[in-house]
Amino acid sequence: MPPARTSVLALPASTPAAVPAAPARRAAAIVAVVIAVAGLLVTLGFTIADEPPAALHAHGGLAIFLGNVTGMVGTYLALIQVLLASRIPPVEHVLGLDGLIRWHRRVGPWPISLLTVHAVALTIGYAQAAKTGLMHEVGTLVGSYPGLLAAFVALGLMLLAGFASVRAVRRRLRRETWWAIHLYLYLAIALSFTHVLVLGPEFVGHPVVKVVWWVVWLATAGSVLVFRFGLPAARSLRHRLVVWEVRRETPDTVSIICRGRNLERLHVQGGQFALWRFMARDLWWQAHPYTVSGLPQRSFMRLTVKNVGDHSKALASLRRGTRVAFEGPYGVFTAEARRHARVALIAAGAGVTSLRPVLEKLPAGTDPVVVLRASRADGMPLRDEVAALVDEKNGALHELYGSRRAQLLDGRRLRQLIPDIRARDVYVSGPEDFVNAVTDAVRRLGVPTDAVHHEAYAL
Ligand SMILES: Cc1cc2nc3c(=O)[nH]c(=O)nc-3n(C[C@H](O)[C@H](O)[C@H](O)COP(=O)(O)OP(=O)(O)OC[C@H]3O[C@@H](n4cnc5c(N)ncnc54)[C@H](O)[C@@H]3O)c2cc1C
Repeated sequence: MPPARTSVLALPASTPAAVPAAPARRAAAIVAVVIAVAGLLVTLGFTIADEPPAALHAHGGLAIFLGNVTGMVGTYLALIQVLLASRIPPVEHVLGLDGLIRWHRRVGPWPISLLTVHAVALTIGYAQAAKTGLMHEVGTLVGSYPGLLAAFVALGLMLLAGFASVRAVRRRLRRETWWAIHLYLYLAIALSFTHVLVLGPEFVGHPVVKVVWWVVWLATAGSVLVFRFGLPAARSLRHRLVVWEVRRETPDTVSIICRGRNLERLHVQGGQFALWRFMARDLWWQAHPYTVSGLPQRSFMRLTVKNVGDHSKALASLRRGTRVAFEGPYGVFTAEARRHARVALIAAGAGVTSLRPVLEKLPAGTDPVVVLRASRADGMPLRDEVAALVDEKNGALHELYGSRRAQLLDGRRLRQLIPDIRARDVYVSGPEDFVNAVTDAVRRLGVPTDAVHHEAYAL
């Protein structure tokens, strides 16, 4: 095994850093969850209560009841799913963008399944009530009910987006193709709006349900417009970022230094990232996540990008003056998330771009132990900056160069490198499989889950 290059600096007895108070923002997240669940229960409760028992015994009554309940709950969950993706700042500050996306994916299969049951059950129910065939009933529904043709199209789009998001299918699609199909979900929700508006309140006539319903619709549409489009556009216009310099860091990594106005007002925390849109030919239509590897200083800030594909490769050829739009900053991989006085930071490859600004923001007394992993020493960008920060903070730096097998970061190795790991907050960043493997090992060593912070470079 190639030896770890270790520069363990003498650790003088230092005053332990104060541990930050548990953020009050967590309480806000709990309140948000309680409100969402309460809204669901109110919708469900009133939908059930609104159904006269006699209607259940009528021809098709049971299927219509099932269709109504699944329709209301499915639509409610679809709206919650869009709300999650709309990146409402107080929620994002607690869960992080990756957490929001994780929840968005977890909720995802439910609205699509429930709305499919809704469409099928109502068609069966109405066909039974009218004593007619299913296909005939589909024709009647589409032809005579306002908004139902659009609702059928909406369901088709949802099924398409759901299918494209199945992991095995998604893996085979180009990310951009998947993303374009995924956007049909917004169109689907907009298309289904009319039929819910015209038909929904008729069967759930209670004013409380109507209020809940309208609040959720308006909050969803408003959140998407404000937080997905308005806020990023306003920030990009306000800070007027342009590419100032592209600097080579390693054979496959460049830093992009951007110049802008009033960057201190962005309040980027060390370790946060943004979705960047470079307004150059062939690039303007895609936004990719990159961490702010150099926090705003006067009018400048920096990203550091490893060439792994089309977009990251093209960034090496950016011209000075190219305008830059961005969404963010996002993320909870920050020094502020710390629970303990002492800290360990572990990064592989480009993951160092998140580690470096977190390290910079750690207060004195956190005695950071830093582990950097890469296949070759000349493949580790920002290595000298990290070493200087470790020095400044009286920490320890372990550099592990070599193949993954030769430099396996399993529990045994981690305990060797960081003997007091259980008493530290542990930050892990880099490629997804690296982050998953190391965070699993760290948890198995007994580090509490809320002291393990991770940034996997995949959304
Ligand atoms: C929170 C976060 C922070 C990141 N910070 C950095 C950084 O500071 N420096 C750096 O070099 N890399 C960073 N990355 C990774 C970077 O986003 C991808 O390497 C880049 O988007 C690849 O795009 P591509 O077209 O060059 O390559 P592709 O070949 O298109 O993609 C390679 C892989 O990158 C990921 N990826 C591609 N496009 C996106 C996208 N739009 N959103 C999310 N993931 C995508 C996918 O996992 C994909 O398999 C970060 C990723 C995340 C999620």
